[in-house]
Amino acid sequence: MNTFTVPATRAAGLARLAQFAPQAGRHYAAERNADHGPGRHDRVSGLSPWLRHRLLTEDEVLRRVLAQHSQDAAAKFIEEVFWRGYFKGYLESHPSIWNDYRRTVVTLLTQRSRDSDLAQAYAQAVDGATGVDCFDAWVAELKNTGYLHNHARMWFASIWIFTLQLPWQLGADFTYRHFIDGDAAANTLGWRWVAGLHTRGKHYLAQADNIARYTGGRFAPQGLVLRAPPLSELTAHPLVPLALTLKPPRGPVALLLTDEDGLPETLGLEPTQVVAVAGAAAFQGRSPLHVGPLLAQFSRGALQDALLRASAHFSAPSTLLAGLDGDAIAEWAARTGVQTIVTAAPAAGPVQEMLADARDWLSMRNLRLVTLNRRYDAAVWPLATQGYSALRNQIPALIERLALESGRPEQGTLL
Ligand SMILES: Cc1cc2nc3c(=O)[nH]c(=O)nc-3n(C[C@H](O)[C@H](O)[C@H](O)COP(=O)(O)OP(=O)(O)OC[C@H]3O[C@@H](n4cnc5c(N)ncnc54)[C@H](O)[C@@H]3O)c2cc1C
Repeated sequence: MNTFTVPATRAAGLARLAQFAPQAGRHYAAERNADHGPGRHDRVSGLSPWLRHRLLTEDEVLRRVLAQHSQDAAAKFIEEVFWRGYFKGYLESHPSIWNDYRRTVVTLLTQRSRDSDLAQAYAQAVDGATGVDCFDAWVAELKNTGYLHNHARMWFASIWIFTLQLPWQLGADFTYRHFIDGDAAANTLGWRWVAGLHTRGKHYLAQADNIARYTGGRFAPQGLVLRAPPLSELTAHPLVPLALTLKPPRGPVALLLTDEDGLPETLGLEPTQVVAVAGAAAFQGRSPLHVGPLLAQFSRGALQDALLRASAHFSAPSTLLAGLDGDAIAEWAARTGVQTIVTAAPAAGPVQEMLADARDWLSMRNLRLVTLNRRYDAAVWPLATQGYSALRNQIPALIERLALESGRPEQGTLL
């Protein structure tokens, strides 16, 4: 699939889901590791850009797949979808990982101006001029389509870290600012997983024969490092309790949309309580460097699509804001005449940072910002405190509690 040619609308996401769902069973499990190259990623769902912008939600994707397959047959696909919630919950409850990463990216980008070896090696990598055939091809694919197959992401990160010996944070910044599905949690923790920092001491070393096999012989990479210790770090990342809000406020509210969540119709707000809708794209917050044009285009489109649907659903006027800063939000909210602004709670990442900055500014102007969590996140995130297997063991119980199998009524409270 060439993600670039697919429109950033919920309708396009639903169409892709309908097309993929019949393959989400044993066919996906058997075929998912093969990377057939740009425009030919048809053995995997290609749903990540829509899931990332929440034009589709995880629970509706799982529900659709479970309407066509047994849990057993679709086990692999279901696990992959839960990896997303696992990483989101893990980063949310270990915020120092994100904060360290953000600081280190700035430090390393500055360091390039003093360290010519680093500058040269970095430029070769991001220009796709390393001489490692597959790596250089993936740089071109990433820039041309905004997407890489999961296996290619693992090989790419591994070659960046262990063969090119570049800092993992610069690689994570590079992919984060080009992936259309670029996600603070999946990207940062995906890189840390490859490096051996997530499952401490267990790293992923890309091997030439494995790459040749799963790319149908398209590549024969030379000079890959065969042995290297996993990365290590001195910093401990303490677990911080989650703060989740599930109950929508009462009374009239102004609804704020961001490129984190494009499905405000299902946030639990009454259609009559929303008096106005506004949205702002925050994709430039992903990196101190410019982000790729394809992701900017997708994020803008996703926001526009969400604004149109929200305006129709809530019968409320919609506005596009220049940014997510306190001033822009306060000025708009003042015009709506309400004092409560509601937005879908952003997980750790740039939007969360921007809204944290805006919140104090808003409260000085007697405006309250309520961030609403989704029931799916409230069920999954608390299980993401350790390794993935603890969450994986809970998947059948989560499917039951979230009523993801057709016809099952939802069970009890989730917190
Ligand atoms: C170094 C590295 C960086 C990554 N960065 C991102 C990123 O920025 N954004 C992102 O969405 N995924 C990221 N991933 C995870 C994964 O590669 C992509 O989600 C997947 O390739 C998207 O293609 P797909 O929709 O066809 O996936 P499918 O195989 O069809 O999976 C279905 C869905 O499950 C979720 N999913 C699958 N695998 C993972 C995973 N390992 N972690 C989290 N969610 C997963 C995605 O939402 C995906 O759309 C990264 C993986 C690695 C190794």
